Amino acid sequence: MDMKESAVVLLSGGQDSTTCLYWAKKHFKKVYAIGFRYGQKHQQENEIAAQIAKEEGVPFQLCELDLFKQFTHNSLTDENMIVDTEKPEGALPNTFVPGRNMLFLGYAAVYAYGLGVHNLVTGVGQADFSGYPDCRNNFIKSMNATLGLAMDYEFEIHTPLMWLNKEQTWEMADQLGVLDKIRYRTMTCYNGIIADGCGNCPACKLRREGLEKYLKRKANK
Ligand code: ZN
Repeated sequence: MDMKESAVVLLSGGQDSTTCLYWAKKHFKKVYAIGFRYGQKHQQENEIAAQIAKEEGVPFQLCELDLFKQFTHNSLTDENMIVDTEKPEGALPNTFVPGRNMLFLGYAAVYAYGLGVHNLVTGVGQADFSGYPDCRNNFIKSMNATLGLAMDYEFEIHTPLMWLNKEQTWEMADQLGVLDKIRYRTMTCYNGIIADGCGNCPACKLRREGLEKYLKRKANK
């Protein structure tokens, strides 16, 4: 298979990864998706991802990763923890799941290897940087090198949203012709509410502010 023919997208059912799914469909002939059950409180996100993938004719692989719940304490997997609404001074928010993107990319790479696919697509970015070290470009470059060495196989990790803020991510969705799909079908909310979400959690605020800015800019054109 030609190196540029196919890609595996890490798909969580949220705004960013779903925008990446449509980006990948534009850039690759064959697209696969992988999602993860890692003990997150809101399992609905995988159902959303699976449903969107199905509608787009994209095979969706759900992968079980139990260890986060066993070893880490964060508000995305721990029922007893409340999501930080503000980023604590000098610390990571309690939504940080240590090692998550490293393991997700590792599993996605194993899946891609089995399929003979060389390209991985992930929606991480550091412009609206919430403080997660595994969303930064230097981590992605390092992981790309590590995966290649681990499997003696050429990988290319694509991060179409790396330098985009949320406003620009909405713009990309619009350019791909899927703004409404992303707006009404995806779930980014930490409280597990689809589309525009609860409106109050950090993920909803970021998403809403970006959308408002983009729609305003578009209206003024
Ligand atoms: Zn929310």
